[in-house]
Amino acid sequence: MKIMIDAGHGVDTPGKRAVDGMKEYEFNSAVAHKLKEFLLMFKGISVLYAHSDSEDVPLHVRTNSANLHDVDLFISIHANAHGDGKDWTSAEGIETFVYQSKPKAATELATLVQAELVKKTKRKDRGVKTAKFYVLEKTKMTAILCECGFMTNKQEAALLRSDDYRTLCAKAIASGLSSYYNLSKVKPTPSTPIYKVQVGAFSHKQNATKLAKELKNKGYHAIIVK
Ligand SMILES: [Zn+2]
Repeated sequence: MKIMIDAGHGVDTPGKRAVDGMKEYEFNSAVAHKLKEFLLMFKGISVLYAHSDSEDVPLHVRTNSANLHDVDLFISIHANAHGDGKDWTSAEGIETFVYQSKPKAATELATLVQAELVKKTKRKDRGVKTAKFYVLEKTKMTAILCECGFMTNKQEAALLRSDDYRTLCAKAIASGLSSYYNLSKVKPTPSTPIYKVQVGAFSHKQNATKLAKELKNKGYHAIIVK
């Protein structure tokens, strides 16, 4: 299964900042990175990014890339803003969007992801909503967009900056995906025993060096460990 993660906006996108100055992209890309790590713990998952740290990728390039790579899921990560973005407001909480036509799969997935986000972060549940967002409209596969808290809410802006909150959001999204797609964890490969050959142990380093040299002369790879 191919999943494209889209960290909304870019480093240089004008506006899109918290009242305290944090760039929205900072949050979005950090969660994208963590989400990728969580998703790669599941079997049969490959992850692509729609965004880039080096340039502000236009929306049509992101959606074209998702369609071209024929990914199974497009998931866009954002932080919300209320008002003109210059003042703190009381708007708060988390909401997840699907395209206005309410595609069935996206709506079911969004419902699970939204529930996990609210459960893990304990923020206000603003529910699953519909919108005519470009990335939801132009992607041909299941697509959802998460708004993980308000940059214009003083308390949430502080959370959006914190590594713990970013981890919680990524974990919640991964867990929503895993229950919708029935993902199973990659089994850790059982460690096979390694047999080592020892040819000598010395209390004087020069003796060890001498033997190592002899072995090397005979074509063996020898290392000295204390
Ligand atoms: Zn955004």
